[in-house]
Amino acid sequence: MAEKRDYYEVLGLQKGASADDIKGAYRKAALKWHPDRWVSGTDAEKKTAEEKFKEASEAYSVLSDPDKRAKYDQFGFAGVEGAGAQDWSQGFGNLNDILNNLFGGAFGGFGGFGGFEGFGFGGGQQGPRTQRGRDIRTRVRVTLEEIANGCDKEVTIERNRPCPDCDGRGTKHASDVKTCPTCKGTGTVQTVTNTLFGRAINSSVCPHCNGTGKVVTNPCSRCKGTGLVRQKETVKVHIPAGVENGMQLTLRGEGHSAPHGGINGDLLVIVEEQPHAQLKRDGVNLFYTRVISVADAMLGCEIQVPALDGAQRLKLDPGTQSGTVERLRGKGLPAVNGYGIGSRGDLYVKILVWIPRKLSRSEREAVEKLRDSSAVRPDPNREDRALFEKESQYF
Ligand SMILES: [Zn+2]
Ligand SMILES: [Zn+2]
Repeated sequence: MAEKRDYYEVLGLQKGASADDIKGAYRKAALKWHPDRWVSGTDAEKKTAEEKFKEASEAYSVLSDPDKRAKYDQFGFAGVEGAGAQDWSQGFGNLNDILNNLFGGAFGGFGGFGGFEGFGFGGGQQGPRTQRGRDIRTRVRVTLEEIANGCDKEVTIERNRPCPDCDGRGTKHASDVKTCPTCKGTGTVQTVTNTLFGRAINSSVCPHCNGTGKVVTNPCSRCKGTGLVRQKETVKVHIPAGVENGMQLTLRGEGHSAPHGGINGDLLVIVEEQPHAQLKRDGVNLFYTRVISVADAMLGCEIQVPALDGAQRLKLDPGTQSGTVERLRGKGLPAVNGYGIGSRGDLYVKILVWIPRKLSRSEREAVEKLRDSSAVRPDPNREDRALFEKESQYF
């Protein structure tokens, strides 16, 4: 294992950092490295992101706790051995939840995107504001078969892209972009208010240039000086195996472009799972119900189970009871992204026996003969009794 880095260094902090600095630094790290943000990255990128995110989370869990932090400051790693260790086997948690926990729900879910506003520039840093394009949300429909192995899908979206006529500058000539006279290029303006306690100086985003520090004097006719044009584009989305309905995939930088060379927003793709005609899903497990005839139940039979990787033959013994559940191991779905949870779920097959409602005269006679036979008189064995007790537990 690589040498452990100092927790302050991991979060880019000084020893005396305030609690808010620590929160802010961890938020920045989570936004950058949370595995949800690297879903479409290469395997090497995903691995790096995962390691960085774990490292930052460990550092944060120690530095955010005054007790542990004091011990760490005094004794180093020896003072907090194992304190930062976390169980990642259940995945990394929802990024939005992490942000909400850090800042008390101020971000109001993904709809608000307040959590991402400051992305790309350090908290409280001076200088022109780097703008970030808006995120785009879209949906993609996938079948259970596609979820079983993962797949590539295409989504068509309309997004703002840099204007090709002016290269996104908003003007034909670079010389027409001038430093904003209101904020002198800093992107912020300061207002002074007199209060009971004296003069208070507030910094806010320059309203003239929207914080970019620049203004366009001779706007491009195509984009009216915004530097952006609307474009309909098709984006390839990789759907990892095991995704569930409602999950969100983040494609970094595939959202709207920001004006004047800012940072692109993200494309957020919500997974919409199409119901399967015969299988029901619960997490990684699948469920299938099959109704068989009385004769098949008594004599035994072979049925075809519509597993996702093709029909599976399943032998049912003579005397199969209604309510019997058979398990096809490993015929369920994989855990999403396979983060540490390698195994697949199972496919459960529930057998129900259908009793005919109408019989012809000869069928009726045949069953009448059976009625008095001792073989058909109920005489449940131990397994049967267990099954019936389970079936009747709600009565
Ligand atoms: Zn300005
Ligand atoms: Zn233009």
